[in-house]
Amino acid sequence: MRKPLSVYFHIPFCTKKCYYCDFLSFPSMEREREQYMDALLREVISSPYRGEKYKVQTVFIGGGTPSVLHGKELKNILDGFKEAFPYMAYEDREWTIEVNPGSVTKKKLSDYRKMGINRLSIGLQSAIDEELKKLGRVHTKEDFLLTYRQAREEGFDNINIDLLSALPGQTLNSYKESLEFTAQLEPEHISSYSLIIEEGTLFHQWYQDGKGLPDEEVEREMYEYTKQYLKTKGYDRYEISNYAKKGKECRHNLVYWQRGEYLGFGLGSSSLMEETRFQNKTTMEQYKKDPGKKNNIKRLPLKEQIEETMFLGLRMEKGVSRKEFYERFSMDLKEIYENSLNKLEQGGFLEWRGETLVLTKRGIDVSNQVLAQFLFD
Ligand code: SF4
Repeated sequence: MRKPLSVYFHIPFCTKKCYYCDFLSFPSMEREREQYMDALLREVISSPYRGEKYKVQTVFIGGGTPSVLHGKELKNILDGFKEAFPYMAYEDREWTIEVNPGSVTKKKLSDYRKMGINRLSIGLQSAIDEELKKLGRVHTKEDFLLTYRQAREEGFDNINIDLLSALPGQTLNSYKESLEFTAQLEPEHISSYSLIIEEGTLFHQWYQDGKGLPDEEVEREMYEYTKQYLKTKGYDRYEISNYAKKGKECRHNLVYWQRGEYLGFGLGSSSLMEETRFQNKTTMEQYKKDPGKKNNIKRLPLKEQIEETMFLGLRMEKGVSRKEFYERFSMDLKEIYENSLNKLEQGGFLEWRGETLVLTKRGIDVSNQVLAQFLFD
């Protein structure tokens, strides 16, 4: 039987760099894009994993802003990919592309459908124009609405909208306005992440002392409100920051959180194949020279497989099943983490739901500290 595989394509180009962004992304000229897409195609068609061993279940085209590409540029890659990986779960596929308002047109949306893409992830971030401006986004709320309507017209029936909370100048009320505006459109999926000020960004220079940002209490209120409000609108929280209508969870991301096998193509992309992690080159020059060359190749020792299972699994609402853990590692979760579990359960950060371990509300508030307790060293 062929093994299931998820595939990620990284398109590192954006119209303009947002002030808070530390992703591997930048504005580009047409020539640079062409050269990159050539390299990407070379990487795909020479992949050692191509052929009959795998059946592709999910595809995620992310970035960057993949919607800056012309339909033809994307089609070339996907055609090469379909040839190199001939086994696809086509009927039951989830093929997502990230798009940003301002860079996507009705024609591009229609091309995506023809290429087999059946899920969109639209970066809205905030429905308040003033907040969008502060983030350095290139679009307005109106631009977003146009993209969303066009996507529905083109037949997309599986759409995610990305939001951000804890933005500079954002209040609980302005966040509520963005969230309610989003939910009223009834997308199938909503992600709402708390802004993290990353080193190397303009936001780090401007806000590293925290001045101008909502305080932790307000941030917590935003999180609580998201959970409660979206529940009333028919969205279930299935991961710390992700909400979906029934059956519309992002299957591609679930593969990451459940440690399935995934292959990343493109600049800086990471992969996990046969318990080995590796990464592509992160500078354009190196990547274009030899796109198949991998960095940081590491066969994961058992202890790291266990740690990852815990801290990725606990991010999900369904938690970590003791039975599945035993089937995977032939070890009892309760025994190997006895001390940490006792401490975290007594502190009210974790609880057992039957034989499944889950974070409590208190645990979610300080999830990074809780999850760190599952590191062995
Ligand atoms: S559009 Fe996304 S990837 Fe591009 S700069 Fe803005 S946040 Fe970063």
